[in-house]
Amino acid sequence: MTRSAPAAIPRTDVSTIPDQVKRLRTAFDSGRTRPEAWRREQLQQLKRLLTTHGQELVDAIHADLGRPEIEGWITDVTVTVAEVDLAAKKLSRWMKPERVSTPLNQQPATARIVREPLGVVLIIAPWNYPVQLMLSPLVGAIAAGNCAVLKPSEVSAHTSAALGRLLPRYLDPECFAVIEGGVDETTALLRERFDHILYTGNGHVAKVVMEAAAKHLTPVTLELGGKSPCIVDSEVDLAVAARRIVWGKFLNAGQTCIAPDYVLVHESREKDLLDAMKATLREFYGEDPQRTPDFGRVINERHLERLAGLLGSGEVVVGGQVDEVDCYLAPTILRSVSPDSPVMRDEIFGPILPVLTVPDIDSAISFVNARPKPLALYVFTKRRETEEAVISRTTSGGACVNATIWHIANPGLPFGGVGPSGMGAYHGRDSFECFSHRRAVVSKSTAIDPKIAYPPYTKWKTTLIRKLL
Ligand code: NAD
Repeated sequence: MTRSAPAAIPRTDVSTIPDQVKRLRTAFDSGRTRPEAWRREQLQQLKRLLTTHGQELVDAIHADLGRPEIEGWITDVTVTVAEVDLAAKKLSRWMKPERVSTPLNQQPATARIVREPLGVVLIIAPWNYPVQLMLSPLVGAIAAGNCAVLKPSEVSAHTSAALGRLLPRYLDPECFAVIEGGVDETTALLRERFDHILYTGNGHVAKVVMEAAAKHLTPVTLELGGKSPCIVDSEVDLAVAARRIVWGKFLNAGQTCIAPDYVLVHESREKDLLDAMKATLREFYGEDPQRTPDFGRVINERHLERLAGLLGSGEVVVGGQVDEVDCYLAPTILRSVSPDSPVMRDEIFGPILPVLTVPDIDSAISFVNARPKPLALYVFTKRRETEEAVISRTTSGGACVNATIWHIANPGLPFGGVGPSGMGAYHGRDSFECFSHRRAVVSKSTAIDPKIAYPPYTKWKTTLIRKLL
């Protein structure tokens, strides 16, 4: 399955950026985005866009990544439609002020939390799931009543162009703007003041984003990556584990932020696991994965070269073939990998899976805890104690037991990292919360107004106050 030639990067004229942001701010200040009806209309329009132009978007993703059509639908289009549907269904409930109790010494009064829109927000997306990671945060921004500037990744240029063409046709043009381009355009954007920035991408650029945000004291949500471990216990259903690991790893040619980055298998099961994964690869992608339409491509030559440079970090069990013309790297499994080798230093973000052995679960836990907090963690085991030990003694943004990837697809779960794998979370209600301010409101009756709390602070008032404590 070959991707198309890289498209020319679509770029917005940077000189227009300040006026575009100003236009959105004027619209926000007018109060236009606050009514539930406006939010519903925009959500409906977003759904219309996704259902009417789903194929166009899937084709653009395919052109950028050689992604199999069904994966484009599932991981970018339908998952975003599900987010829109959930927000539309729950919007009234989410917007409803939340009553809280009032302490006795403040009575008679009522207290409530009101969710307010933040204002004009910026959403910066990466190239690996270029529709989902742009539009899923947008669902939250709309539901919470914000205006938004959207910055697709220039690396997935076909999809950026499709979003730049389609979004203005469907969404309120006074309240949304798509800014296309790369570093220059994003740098110009980041000079503007936003009320929130949600950035998805790598940790290096996250620091640039956070620094720019700090100049305006703008809060940020950072959706980053890292090396997500996959622990395989000695007591395990190996066939199922192999299938689920191979699927999660080689989906989108390993270019998934929550893909298992490496496996830590109990030493007694290494051979069995490697055999089972090899058999699964053959079952999924045939004898020559380059020929199947079900396996994607590396995004560009630069990443292919980086990944090819990691192949020497261990013994190739399966895969290892590289075709520069096609940006193809075969699904590859490595064994005999040293923890200090290049493949174990940074997030792999491609179709290479190193498998390391551990003598027991405690060693696996220590291995994970000695490294930066990951975005995801997976454990495969039949034993309740192993599950309990791994989940309670490690940390990660999210985790699955006997599965990979699936936690991202449950909108009831917050999706985000911890420490260097990110800050903040979204999806489902958390997306609405991410783009809302929780305003504390107290409403007091004027029927009675005891003088005790006011000056002059006489001695008897102090005595009484101390008695009441
Ligand atoms: P990328 O290169 O597309 O960059 C992301 C965005 O940052 C783009 O819009 C790009 O224009 C902008 N950008 C790049 N350099 C910039 C600069 N110097 N200043 C300002 N903006 C700049 O994507 P990427 O970073 O290669 O994405 C891959 C990384 O993202 C991986 O680490 C992956 O784990 C992570 N990721 C995380 C999630 C998540 O939800 N946590 C999802 C997908 C990817």
